[in-house]
Amino acid sequence: PHLFDALDDQPLDAMLTLLHLLRNDPRSDKIDLGIGVYGDDNGCTPVMQAAKMAERNLIETQTSKAYLAAEGDAHFINLLAQRVLGGAEVNRYCGVQTPGGTGALRLAAELIHKANPEARVWLGTPTWINHHALIRSAGLHILEHPFFDQATQSVLFDEMMTALESARTGDVVLLHACCHNPTGADFTPAQWRTIGELVNRKGLIPLIDIAYQGLGHGMEADAAAMRTLLDSVPEAIIAASCSKNFGLYRERIGALWVKADSATAALRARGNLILIARAMWSMPPDHGAAVVRTILDSTDLTQIWLTELEQMRTRLNSMRAELAKAVPQLASVAQQSGMFALLPLNREAVADLRVKHGIYMVENGRMNIAGLQAGNLPRFAAALKPYLQ
Ligand code: PLP
Repeated sequence: PHLFDALDDQPLDAMLTLLHLLRNDPRSDKIDLGIGVYGDDNGCTPVMQAAKMAERNLIETQTSKAYLAAEGDAHFINLLAQRVLGGAEVNRYCGVQTPGGTGALRLAAELIHKANPEARVWLGTPTWINHHALIRSAGLHILEHPFFDQATQSVLFDEMMTALESARTGDVVLLHACCHNPTGADFTPAQWRTIGELVNRKGLIPLIDIAYQGLGHGMEADAAAMRTLLDSVPEAIIAASCSKNFGLYRERIGALWVKADSATAALRARGNLILIARAMWSMPPDHGAAVVRTILDSTDLTQIWLTELEQMRTRLNSMRAELAKAVPQLASVAQQSGMFALLPLNREAVADLRVKHGIYMVENGRMNIAGLQAGNLPRFAAALKPYLQ
């Protein structure tokens, strides 16, 4: 027998299937609301000006591409920590650079498994689909708690809290810091406080995924609730991505921080993160981190980047407001934040919209708000209406 004969066939990834259908759709007015990438009002995902300027600077000044270190570029990590964690007690944190937010989550899962193989990870339903695979790959057990009701577009907070009452000490709760994927629904400050109380009372570890900071209400506002929670708990893990807010998707850049109960424990966690990272990717890619470092190290570039980020955020929020205005049943979309909404549509409706109208969304009803443009929003709203109550 041959080795690879033992493998099972795998169905084509739903997102790739969608992309394939989209590319082969000849209709010139097709609307792409599928993959989670920011698009401007012309449907382009341009390289941010601040990133271009940083790249020019790097070409001129970079003298070597020798390996950096398994933990990545310490200066990048420190500069990004100020943006993500704010003025946290840094000596209780350790941070490492990772290949994207995905790398940060995968590394987090491995660290949790190494520290406590019995730990179970609680995921809200629904959550980013890849959370399941990333956590499971490390051998951790997943439990789900209710999070969002698609029909009523509401956060199922009481149901979530009730479910988490059965969590065990040492279990991990994954929380989206802001701009929830796929629902766009975030917790209120009061709900974050309630989560903090539960986490402390039951001895749970928050694993916070922050992949869209700056795309909801601003870099500081989007991190505020997370930072308050972090200040109130002895231990936590934070997985950050620079893919969306720096537009550096394919450069694969993110970071992972662990907050430990003491400086000594933080150092120990760091040693373990480096060991695990060595066995997964050895060294993280540098280019994206060097771009982010160059931006954050310069007041001018930081200002240019923040202005561009604000334009992206403003565009997303204005598309939300326009959609809510055009489709009163989707009024809640204007209250949600970030790149996504999970519309109250079943699979048949999503397929129908694609076949009849050339409108492409993920089969669960997730739409990318950034796929909307002044020019296509009216047609989208009109096509949607028959499918909504
Ligand atoms: N977390 C969430 C919720 C996401 O939606 C994504 C990307 O889609 C990521 C993490 C990871 O992003 P990346 O690995 O591209 O940085």
